[in-house]
Amino acid sequence: MDSIVKPKENKKVTYYRMVYQPFFLTLKINRMDNIKGKVVVITGASSGLGEATARYLSELGAIVVLGARRIERLDALAEELSKNGSKAVAVETDVTDYEQVKRLVDTAINEYGHIDVMINNAGLMPQSLLEQLRIDDWDQMIDVNIKGVLYGIAAALPYMKAQRGGHIINVSSVAGHRVGPGSSVYSATKYAVRVISEGLRQEVKPYHIRTTVISPGAVSTELPNSITDPATAQSMHEFYKKNAIPADSFARAVVYAMNQPENVDINEILFRPTVQHL
Ligand code: NDP
Repeated sequence: MDSIVKPKENKKVTYYRMVYQPFFLTLKINRMDNIKGKVVVITGASSGLGEATARYLSELGAIVVLGARRIERLDALAEELSKNGSKAVAVETDVTDYEQVKRLVDTAINEYGHIDVMINNAGLMPQSLLEQLRIDDWDQMIDVNIKGVLYGIAAALPYMKAQRGGHIINVSSVAGHRVGPGSSVYSATKYAVRVISEGLRQEVKPYHIRTTVISPGAVSTELPNSITDPATAQSMHEFYKKNAIPADSFARAVVYAMNQPENVDINEILFRPTVQHL
């Protein structure tokens, strides 16, 4: 007589193994279907959201073309990603200069033959009360946060039109949905990004170009360092310390939008840390 007692078959486990597991496995594989091999240009890739996104996209097999002013940081990132087997190239870019943004996008075309995704992410947030008249800060926010996005669109759109496809992802903010004391100009630039994105969405339909605007809440990056008013800087640093979530939250939102089948256009994503009230 066989003395080994066989464990009783757990029907739930067997069913999971036979039905759900292969299904989830397929989902996992499909997860990367629309990311792998895509050529993605990212502005503001030297830190924060842009850097986190470059890392995550590379991990998923995308080719990244990195733009920002701090070229030493970009070079180090591109080298690190390349060592890990990814394709990455760094281009020193100031997004307030159209020719430089064009050179960034042209690098993608020259190196890899096309551009799949343009992520207009570079931005800064030197908030202050209007009465402080920090006009240099206003000018900088308008130049980087609005004109930088427009220049990114201008550089990528002709190629995407010719390709009859592509994806433009612009970065707005929760501040692009609400305004409070000290955030008038920053919010104005981020509202502008949403307005531009919505106009773009309607205009590029004939070319099968997808458009997404992502509006994050507080995410832990170097962004508060751009505040020049000491009192605002201090309260913002405290706010970020209490509320901010890691930058991979944003990278996942990008991947979610990019990874949809080409006939699905995720137009808006708004997310906050769970603890963030405003
Ligand atoms: P960081 O300060 O960490 O990153 C900003 C990036 O923008 C850097 O890579 C910086 O690179 C780049 N940048 C700034 N000015 C220029 C310029 N003139 N030309 C080219 N690149 C420039 O902040 P985040 O990662 O948080 O910011 C990214 C985007 O996310 C911004 O648009 C910001 O408004 C938005 N955002 C961020 C939130 C957050 O809580 N972190 C919330 C909502 C929106 P370099 O200095 O090397 O040029």
